[in-house]
Amino acid sequence: MENNCIFCKITRKQIGSNILYEDDDFQVILDISPATKGHAILISKKHFDNLFKMDESTAAKLFPVVLKVSKIMKEELNCSGFNLVQNNGKNAGQTVFHFHLHLIPRYENDGIDFRWNTTEYAENEAASIASKIYDKIQ
Ligand code: AMP
Ligand code: ZN
Repeated sequence: MENNCIFCKITRKQIGSNILYEDDDFQVILDISPATKGHAILISKKHFDNLFKMDESTAAKLFPVVLKVSKIMKEELNCSGFNLVQNNGKNAGQTVFHFHLHLIPRYENDGIDFRWNTTEYAENEAASIASKIYDKIQ
């Protein structure tokens, strides 16, 4: 529990929320300022400031929960699309510094636009970036 962390307070039920799913590791609640009807956030019960602080055991349990909850949300909300959004760091738009993943149901003409302006690589830059990361991961 991090002092004054709103998501720690929510997962400990010290602050109320609309809960869609809960297990030992995660809670999924409706976002208080939804982008669309049914917009939810999956919150880890342990406090991690962001994805990069998450332990491997929690990370391994994350996607099965995402899949289970997303499928039921899609069925029940009858949405025609679905975005997963996960912000890490102020420059990536993170405003609550406790790991969470947005589950955003999408509907025709819902007015949301996640497209971005594109950039370009200099000559060989893409290959150099890719090989630097590839070599480090192996
Ligand atoms: P992010 O910008 O990715 O850090 O997203 C933080 C999200 O948390 C925003 O979409 C907020 O609307 C949402 N949020 C903040 N406080 C609450 C709360 N008390 N209950 C539900 N969602 C919240
Ligand atoms: Zn927290």
